Amino acid sequence: MERLVTCSCGRNIKVTTSQAGAELHCECGQSVLVPTLRGMQHLPFAESLEEVPSKTSAAKWAGGRGITMATFTGIAIFCISLSALFYFRWYVSRTDFTVEDQLAAEREVFTNFPPQDVAKVWMEFQSHGITSKEAPEYFRWSVYAGEQWILGSISSGIGCFCLIAALITYFSGKSRRG
Ligand SMILES: [Zn+2]
Repeated sequence: MERLVTCSCGRNIKVTTSQAGAELHCECGQSVLVPTLRGMQHLPFAESLEEVPSKTSAAKWAGGRGITMATFTGIAIFCISLSALFYFRWYVSRTDFTVEDQLAAEREVFTNFPPQDVAKVWMEFQSHGITSKEAPEYFRWSVYAGEQWILGSISSGIGCFCLIAALITYFSGKSRRG
């Protein structure tokens, strides 16, 4: 086990027990006296000095880990909240429309107008070349519900992924420390 002898210039020299009592020459030119075996017991280990840079890199890593964890947690919370909204929209969307419902809804529109007005509207449509190209309501609703379900799945997936990533980051830091 190597120990360190400090020269008056500040340089550390690695010494072994076999060098006890010897006189060494420092890079600065001064001679450094290595203590006796008993005196060497009070010298710091050479390894303890080498640990210093690794500790700083560990501290740097810990700082980066904190940011990573905060980022993942933030994204996770955001995505899970978003997925809750999409799933809610999907849940409240009416998908049980039937063709009969659609026809009934269209008939209802016509009952609100006198026949002359309906004819005027129809002629107006015809003059613009507008035919009933628009998808029926029940179809639009089921498409909408499908979209909300997909969006909910995507955002909850990202949310869960980030939550797991945050947990992994957290526990990897814990095991490293412990
Ligand atoms: Zn020196």
